[in-house]
This record gives sequence, C-alpha cells and structure tokens, in this order.
Amino acid sequence: MIVAIDGPAGAGKSTVARAVAERLGAGYLDTGAMYRAVAYLAVRDGVGVGDGDALAALARRHPPVMQPLPGGVAVVVDGQDISRQIRSADITAAVSEVAAHPGVRDVVTALQRAVLADGSWVLDGRDVGTTVWPGAELKVFLTASVTERARRRCAELAAEGTPESIADVEAAIAERDRRDSTRAASPLRAATDAVHLDTTDLSIAEVVDTIAAWAVAARSGART
Ligand code: C5P
Repeated sequence: MIVAIDGPAGAGKSTVARAVAERLGAGYLDTGAMYRAVAYLAVRDGVGVGDGDALAALARRHPPVMQPLPGGVAVVVDGQDISRQIRSADITAAVSEVAAHPGVRDVVTALQRAVLADGSWVLDGRDVGTTVWPGAELKVFLTASVTERARRRCAELAAEGTPESIADVEAAIAERDRRDSTRAASPLRAATDAVHLDTTDLSIAEVVDTIAAWAVAARSGART
C-alpha cells in the first residue's frame, strides 16, 4: 500500500512519515531530500538556480539515490553520502527555486515513481498525493500554524547548537510556503480526497497513532 503525506514546511511530515512507515512495516521515501540533492548539485557545480534546463540535465546525469541503511536512509549522489550537506541553510534557502522548474520535477518524479513501483511505502512531500502517486490508498494533508511550525524548527536548531530567532525562522518558512504553493508546476496543494490533519495542538505520538489507524482502515478497505 502507498500512504502519501503532503503539507507545508515544518509540519512534522518527515518525523511522522518515518514513524508510520515503521509501524506499518513499509519503506519511507523522503521526496524533499531528492529536490534538496538537486539543489546541492547546483551549488556544487555552479549551476544557477534559475536555469531549469541545466538543472534538469544535472539531475539526469547525477540522479539522487535513496540508499537504505541500518539506521535510516542515506541520500547518495555519485556514490557520495550527502545526507548531512542537504540540510544546510543555503540548500534550504535554494531548494524551492530549484524544485519549481518543470524539467527538474519531471526527472525527480520519475525517480520517485520507480522507487514506489515495488512494495509498500509511506512518502512525504508537497505533491505526492496529487502528482507523484495519485492512486495512493491513503492521502493525508498535514498542517500546523506557521508560528507552531517555526517554534518546532527553532527547538530543533537550538538542539543542533545553531539557534536562530523565531522571527527569522518564521519568515523563512512563510517564504518557502509561498514559493511552493504559488509555482505553476505541481504546487503544494491537498489532493481533493486527502484527509486533513492540523497538528498544531497534537503530539507526534498522537499524529502517528492517528495516521497509522487510518492506514490500517484504508488497507482493509474501510472509509477513513
Ligand atoms: O520536505 P522538505 O522541506 O525537505 O522539502 C524541501 C523542498 O523541496 C520544498 O520546500 C519544496 O520546494 C521541494 N519539494 C517539492 N515537492 C516535493 C517535496 C519537496 O517541491 N514532493
């Protein structure tokens, strides 16, 4: 079965999707990491984030591979593990411009569909229920207020030893949401048949329990 979780930046999608996948005995596919890998290649090779054709060619030449490891999944390009590098502030700032190019999306979406063709998966992103896998048995649109999303991100940054002000983090998240939801190609949008879940006042455990229960119901053919 395929469970597709979409939503804006910082809604907790990756934490929740990873836990739901484990609960269901399914794989986890982080589709944002693949766009981050293309942004990393652009910076590495000096390709402008506005040059869609060159970026698509770059992604085709150096396709990001999601490599399962005992403790998780590594993002690999050209045989190099770039899982840490793709989380840097400059890649985060560049990625939504890179991901807006239809040519880049075509290449990355094809790679994602190839992964999903076999087995059971939980995947998260911006367009996974609308474009990547519209036939998913369960689609969830995960949201939280922008203030709560900024608060969570600030706590993560502080824990990593790189604190930032809540105002700066909130502005950066709001800007990424604006870019992701206003682009022409596969914008951030809930699928018409997605179940909406606002996590502002919920713990991670509550969100995971809720989605896992919906997935079990969807798998057995019940309505969610
Ligand atoms: O999920 P994450 O924040 O790592 O995603 C990074 C960026 O990749 C998003 O801001 C968005 O621009 C892009 N993305 C996308 N479609 C997806 C997943 C991510 O455009 N399915």
